[in-house]
Amino acid sequence: MRKPMIAGNWKMYKTAAEAADFMEAVKNKTFDPDKVEAVVCAPALYLAQLVESAKDSSIQIGAQTMHSETEGAFTGEVSPVQLNSVGVTHVIIGHSERRQYFAETDQTVNAKMHAAANNDLRAILCVGESLEQRESGSTGDVVSAQIEAALEGLSADEVVNAVIAYEPIWAIGTGKTATSQDANEVCGVIREKVANLYNAETAQATRILYGGSVKPANIGELLATEHIDGALVGGASLETDSFNQLVEAGLNAAN
Ligand code: 13P
Repeated sequence: MRKPMIAGNWKMYKTAAEAADFMEAVKNKTFDPDKVEAVVCAPALYLAQLVESAKDSSIQIGAQTMHSETEGAFTGEVSPVQLNSVGVTHVIIGHSERRQYFAETDQTVNAKMHAAANNDLRAILCVGESLEQRESGSTGDVVSAQIEAALEGLSADEVVNAVIAYEPIWAIGTGKTATSQDANEVCGVIREKVANLYNAETAQATRILYGGSVKPANIGELLATEHIDGALVGGASLETDSFNQLVEAGLNAAN
């Protein structure tokens, strides 16, 4: 049984005070972190503060991106070593918004996957097709190519330690969720690709999340499918009530 993961991606939302209020409200919710992995991926500015306030809770703190180098003259960037040094445990890599607006490529994604593995950070690797690619029937090829490029040179153990998030671009922030069958089918293609690149055991152990308009009302049926092991959630992770309900759904799926 793969442990469900619920990861919130706050994107560029919340002030410092709002971030602090959120953590105060959710940190006392007790749940067994061996049953569900709950992560809040916040703006870099608040990471240290959130790690501190979440330290006695079951919630872990992740970044939304990072540079691949450990240090250097890269104005405005944050390194994996720096994330690690403040207690961040997870990092989203290759989100479609980074690919679309910040020139993230398969090559930079691969470099960052290695950087995460080398710096004790759990990567949440995002892949997904555009609406045009879906309509032309190339979803499987697109996500398979993204997976192959992103995982190039990683060991099987490093892949199992990471998490893959299937996020169809057309379902992000649009209110359009892929049906649980469609999402499961693509997650199955991803698992098959990992099996081809590594072996069946690695593919069985690798967790695959779905992301794109996930909310408390639809997470149950997504988690009930064969290949979906959790969710990467934008909008619905911003409110404490819905975040708690999503974690609850993860716990139910684990039981
Ligand atoms: P929404 O849940 O707001 O659609 O965002 C999904 C996402 O991009 C998470 O990384």
